Amino acid sequence: MHCLAGIPFDANSSYLRGAAQGPAAIRAALRCDSTNLWSESGRDLGAAGALDDAGDVAFPPGSEPFAEIERGVSEVLDTGAKPVLLGGDHSITFPILRAFAKKHAKLSILHVDAHPDLYDEFEGSRHSHACAFARIMENKLAARLVQVGIRTMNAHQRAQAERFGVEVMEMKNWSADLRLEFSGPLYISIDLDALDPACAPGVSHYEPGGFTTRDAVRMIQSIRGEIVGADIVELNPARDVQGMTAMAAAKLLKEIVAKM
Ligand code: MN
Ligand code: MN
Repeated sequence: MHCLAGIPFDANSSYLRGAAQGPAAIRAALRCDSTNLWSESGRDLGAAGALDDAGDVAFPPGSEPFAEIERGVSEVLDTGAKPVLLGGDHSITFPILRAFAKKHAKLSILHVDAHPDLYDEFEGSRHSHACAFARIMENKLAARLVQVGIRTMNAHQRAQAERFGVEVMEMKNWSADLRLEFSGPLYISIDLDALDPACAPGVSHYEPGGFTTRDAVRMIQSIRGEIVGADIVELNPARDVQGMTAMAAAKLLKEIVAKM
């Protein structure tokens, strides 16, 4: 069983707000009558019980957002379902993985992004979406972190990657026939700005020279490993063009769930 949950949270975005509207836009694209719910591999996500939806994590006034996210994800994990979380800015992956770490020791992470998100702090915040993977590695929430799509590396983040033993596969060195292999449970975190802005304009940070949607679909389809959860983050519907990034997100979502 797979279960969606939305995390409509963008308070840790450094440049533009808007990702809090992401979950609703991805759900609408997934259910859009312009297409169907079948994956390319032949799985029908519209079949009874194929894909549940736990709704959105709520953030009551005065609550601590990361605690609410961790609790919401833990609730889904406790049902035995494999969660697919819809963001939200990328800061949410840290509390998501705090929940996963309680269930899965030795988790591997495949992080797909234009940015390494390894800043120790960014513009005065240690919980910025630009810091998520520094917090994840400091808190030892991953046994292995593999980053792909990266094309904004700077000296500080390169030092952080070395410090944490991150396997960074920079975009300049990437090839389409690459097959990623993982032993043990695998979590996939997809920041939609990993895609080229030509394929996915509905994001806050444009970084040209990224993946085509097909590159990303093929990468998911060819992964070897046991996927136990995933997130798709950083959709900013206010920046989207005719919902095309939301549709790309829904496409990746279908392929991830089918691969699970
Ligand atoms: Mn990111
Ligand atoms: Mn990014």
